[in-house]
Amino acid sequence: MHDIGLHLKKNDKGEIGFAVYVGGGQGRTPMIAKKIHDFLPEEDLLSYTTAIMRVYNLHGRRDNKYKARIKILVHETGAEELARQVDAEFAELKNTELKLPEADIQAITSYFALPPLTDRPEGWANLASWKRADPDFARWVQQNVQPHKHPDYGMVTVSLKPIGGIPGDASDSQMDAIADLAEEYAFDEIRISHEQNIILPHVALADLEALYRGLVSIGLATANAGLITDIIACPGLDYCALANARSIPLAQEISTRFGNPDRQAEIGELKIKISGCINACGHHHVGHIGLLGVERRARNSTRSRWVVRATRTPRSAKSSAAASSLKR
Ligand code: SF4
Repeated sequence: MHDIGLHLKKNDKGEIGFAVYVGGGQGRTPMIAKKIHDFLPEEDLLSYTTAIMRVYNLHGRRDNKYKARIKILVHETGAEELARQVDAEFAELKNTELKLPEADIQAITSYFALPPLTDRPEGWANLASWKRADPDFARWVQQNVQPHKHPDYGMVTVSLKPIGGIPGDASDSQMDAIADLAEEYAFDEIRISHEQNIILPHVALADLEALYRGLVSIGLATANAGLITDIIACPGLDYCALANARSIPLAQEISTRFGNPDRQAEIGELKIKISGCINACGHHHVGHIGLLGVERRARNSTRSRWVVRATRTPRSAKSSAAASSLKR
């Protein structure tokens, strides 16, 4: 669903490259991107994406703001012909200064180096006894902690979706507290997810209980990552001049209705995404259930008209595996 999508992969020789997709997008004309290259070596990333932009600049509809997107060009040209044109431009650019030198690739790689993860095997035994002693903690671990490449660590989702709260909101004092917790337990690293949550990517299992207590004290330990109350909602009519409908109160009503943790667990993974108008900032096209506000009513009303779109998607094998490994 992106203008250009890059899927990192390894080939049979263990080399890193990218499958390249073009022409995706949401909004008024939602389209799925088409694959135009199966394995692009990383040194060619800049020249190939530049080739895509050159083809778009030559033939795209920059004269019409409703059609000025790569997805429109791909739709009108066809993915096969577009790939041929991109390849022709790429042949001109491939061995120019746009080719990434190995030193640059290494320098970029170093920006994403792992922190010094020392072995903390005691975490596994502690985790088991903490979970037995506190079912709420056990539920939080199962739902909000994903396995890390180092077995003694986990990736923590700090849910910004308290039951009945405004999706994605955090106060200044909560943000200060999260920064302190990240400094103490997560190598000072915080990431923000497109799902309007916060990720602490490296937390020792041995520190999970202390981190959880810290999150409980600031109201950010809701165990609902990936569940029905983990809703994405755009600002909607409360803040956005383009909106037809109020996304936030609708999200709050759904969250309150389904707030019971047992009921959420019974429903399982379910992604609800809400956009207040066709621009799709809430990504309603790609939710299991997407809600699109289509008719403006009073600002203080949640009774606008909505279009509901449902997609049947199998429970992610990855998330099931993640949950089971942390149940140990
Ligand atoms: S989807 Fe529409 S209402 Fe929501 S933030 Fe985007 S432009 Fe505004």
